[in-house]
Amino acid sequence: MKTKKPNATQIWKQLEDHLVPRLRLSITDRAVYSHLLRHSRLEGRARLRFSMAWLARGARLSTNPARWAVRRLIAHGALRLVERGKAGHVVEVRLPSEIRACRPRRTARRAARPLPRGIDFELDFLKTRALRHAIHVRERGRCFYCLRRLTPLIRCLDHVVPRVSFGSNSYRNLVSCCLHCNSHKRDRPAVGFLCWLYRERRLTAVELAARLRALDALASGKLPPPLPATTNALPSKSRPPLHCINPVPC
Ligand SMILES: [Zn+2]
Repeated sequence: MKTKKPNATQIWKQLEDHLVPRLRLSITDRAVYSHLLRHSRLEGRARLRFSMAWLARGARLSTNPARWAVRRLIAHGALRLVERGKAGHVVEVRLPSEIRACRPRRTARRAARPLPRGIDFELDFLKTRALRHAIHVRERGRCFYCLRRLTPLIRCLDHVVPRVSFGSNSYRNLVSCCLHCNSHKRDRPAVGFLCWLYRERRLTAVELAARLRALDALASGKLPPPLPATTNALPSKSRPPLHCINPVPC
C-alpha cells in the first residue's frame, strides 16, 4: 500500500518532542519505532512485512527486546498488527501525528469551570496590579514552564505568544513564570521552550506532557484567573524586579 511520502523533518520533531515524552518510550522502543518508520512511511508505504531477526539486526538489538518493543508499540497504538505468521509480522506504522496519545488533548475537566458572568475576561491583564496578581494566583506559586516554586522576587509575567508576534495581554496569553525561564524563552514559541526544558532535564516526560496540556488549555481559554471583585478600581503600583529583563510589570 503506497502512501504519500511525509515530511521527514516534521516527523522527527514530532517524534522527539511529543511521541517519546507522551508515550514514555524507552531507548529500545525508540530504536524499533524509528527503524520501522524508516522502512515504511518514509518510503511511502503504510504497511511493512518484516521478520524479528531483520528488525533486531537493523535496530542493533537482541531478538527478545525487539519483540517486546514491538508489543509495547502495538499497545501504545504506534503500530497496528495486521498479520503475524511464519512469514513474519505485517504492521501498519503510524506517524506520530496519527497516534491518539500524541495528539493535543483538550483538558475538558479543567475546562469545565464556568467563567463568572459580568466580567470581561478579554480585558488587558497588564492594566492593573490586581489583574497581574490574578495571573500569579492562577499558577499557584509555581513557574508555568519549569514548575519551580516562585517568590515575589523571582517571578514575572510572560507572554506565551511574544509581543513581537502580536501576542495579546489576555489571560490566554499571560503566565506567571520565573526569571530564569523568562530570560531563556525570550521570543521562542512556548512549545519549543518546554521541549528545550525537557531536553535540559528540567522537566520530566510526565511534566512535559502536563505542561503541553496546560498550554493547550490556556490558549483555548480554559484557565481563567480568579478575579477580584473590583478589577478596574485597583491602581497600578508595582514595578518589576530590577533584574527582570521582561518589561512586563510583576
Ligand atoms: Zn521557570
